[in-house]
Amino acid sequence: MQQFPVRDGELLIGGHKLTTLAARVGQTPFYAYDRNLLAERVRALRVLLPAGVKLHYAMKANPMPAVVGLMAGLVDGIDVASAGELKVALDAGADPAEISFAGPGKRDVELRQSVAAGVLVNVESPRELEVLARESQRLGQPARVALRVNPDFELKGSGMKMGGGPKQFGVDVEQMPAVLKRVGALGLAFEGFHLFAGSQNLKAESICEAQQNSYALALRLSEHAPAPVRFLNLGGGFGIPYFPGEQHLDLAPIAANLAALEQRCRQELPQASIVIELGRYLVGEAGVYVTRVVDRKLSRGQVFLVTDGGLNHHLSASGNFGQVLRKNYPVAIGNRMASQPRELVSVVGPLCTPLDLLADRMELPVAGEGDLVVIYQSGAYGASASPQGFLGQAPLTEVLV
Ligand SMILES: *Cc1c(COP(=O)(O)O)cnc(C)c1O
Repeated sequence: MQQFPVRDGELLIGGHKLTTLAARVGQTPFYAYDRNLLAERVRALRVLLPAGVKLHYAMKANPMPAVVGLMAGLVDGIDVASAGELKVALDAGADPAEISFAGPGKRDVELRQSVAAGVLVNVESPRELEVLARESQRLGQPARVALRVNPDFELKGSGMKMGGGPKQFGVDVEQMPAVLKRVGALGLAFEGFHLFAGSQNLKAESICEAQQNSYALALRLSEHAPAPVRFLNLGGGFGIPYFPGEQHLDLAPIAANLAALEQRCRQELPQASIVIELGRYLVGEAGVYVTRVVDRKLSRGQVFLVTDGGLNHHLSASGNFGQVLRKNYPVAIGNRMASQPRELVSVVGPLCTPLDLLADRMELPVAGEGDLVVIYQSGAYGASASPQGFLGQAPLTEVLV
């Protein structure tokens, strides 16, 4: 992949030769995230996005504390989805005024922690409002709330849809007028709306359409709001290419669309800032997963490279995290980048399950025991989204380089 250069036949990660980095880390398997690529991605987005649009990092994509610390210094806010993530964001030095907390099923204690921390709560149900009112009273400071809307449209072509139809996320738009009235009656500090329609989308047109629909919906709902809208989170859903034939998302039309919406917003909701929240797009391409070949086997004509890590560390690369049809992530033999000849191999992990497949019959340089298999596009939904306890394998480590 072009974001990682090659020197002397080895992949460079954060400027380090892969074998040197592996020696420094002291173990395989590991994830490595490249801080320059993370910063570069944010910089490139800023160049294109209208200056008034705020960029948030949805840290569930990669909650490694060092990554969150780096991102907190680069973006305008951090979006968390649990009290555990809230702690990491606060520890990382993120400004509580710019942290928002979304997610269904927030427990009473999590809502109390949010009020005490002074972060914005993206409310997902009428129950949360009542708990927030109680906790506000107890702590003597009004909870800051935005309402997460379950819209009456979907984000077309998304890997995962998180709005439209019956959903556990947000409050149905039909219930919104009554819920907004309740926010006012409870004396909570209303700040705005949160709309998040879906994830992993590579179609700029669909993202623009969802943003337009989200804006129009928020504008309509603002008529029922107890206070002016100051926060208007239009979601994200920006995808990255994983599989053959997929192209990078074309940001230009999205930036133009946001500029037009921002212009309207200045007239129609003059106190509001438009926010977009991105997870995978910010971090996904900056990370690799590295695992070492333990065994090379030949079974009835097929070569298997058996590695020291697999789906227990990288569920999504094994195809078991939301994919309908399993496809190979981009894979390389990181210490044999220019090596010949090549052969058709399957890369499998050490777990006793046929699901533990990292590359299914892929053409790679001939490799064997000790070589380093690299899985690209692994900076998002890797370590924290994998069942690390499964089968009692040795623990994983992560580095930011
Ligand atoms: C998961 C999630 C995100 C991040 O999604 P990506 O596809 O990683 O960009 C953003 N906002 C909310 C509310 C989410 O649940």
